[in-house]
Amino acid sequence: MKSLDDCIFCKIVAGKAPSAKVYEDQHTLAFMDLMPVSRGHTLVIPKEHSENLYEIDNPTLAAVAATSHLLAPAIRRAFEPDGLRIFQLNGAAAGQTVFHYHMHLLPKFANEEDRFLKRVASSDDELQKVADAISAALDIS
Ligand code: 5GP
Ligand code: ZN
Repeated sequence: MKSLDDCIFCKIVAGKAPSAKVYEDQHTLAFMDLMPVSRGHTLVIPKEHSENLYEIDNPTLAAVAATSHLLAPAIRRAFEPDGLRIFQLNGAAAGQTVFHYHMHLLPKFANEEDRFLKRVASSDDELQKVADAISAALDIS
């Protein structure tokens, strides 16, 4: 499996960097974004390193999509947002800052302004609480 030593998301996959994990399976991992735009802001990544949409292979992309499909209703059950946005950036010019493919699941609360430009890091405790709430709402047996 391709993994890069200097990639923060590869380090998270390998357990060499911390994260508030929500879900993992053979091919994917989901964890809380360190600087959430809103409560429940989750990242879904492939375990194998691909830089972006141009590099990722079709089955791996399908696995990421399947995990997002599983998590979206769990996020809704946990936090009851009014909407949910999915975004994914390719290339620095598009705003990509971590060059390991990831899908953002971004709850939108009608009474909250977008905080894209005013993001602050959450505490580890708070991120873990949010991760646990989503994990507990997962519909898997
Ligand atoms: P991009 O702009 O590349 O689409 O998004 C990268 C995201 O990764 C950002 O939202 C940023 O807050 C998040 N991020 C960067 N480093 C870390 C980290 O070490 N841990 C976690 N959980 N999220 C990170
Ligand atoms: Zn990586």
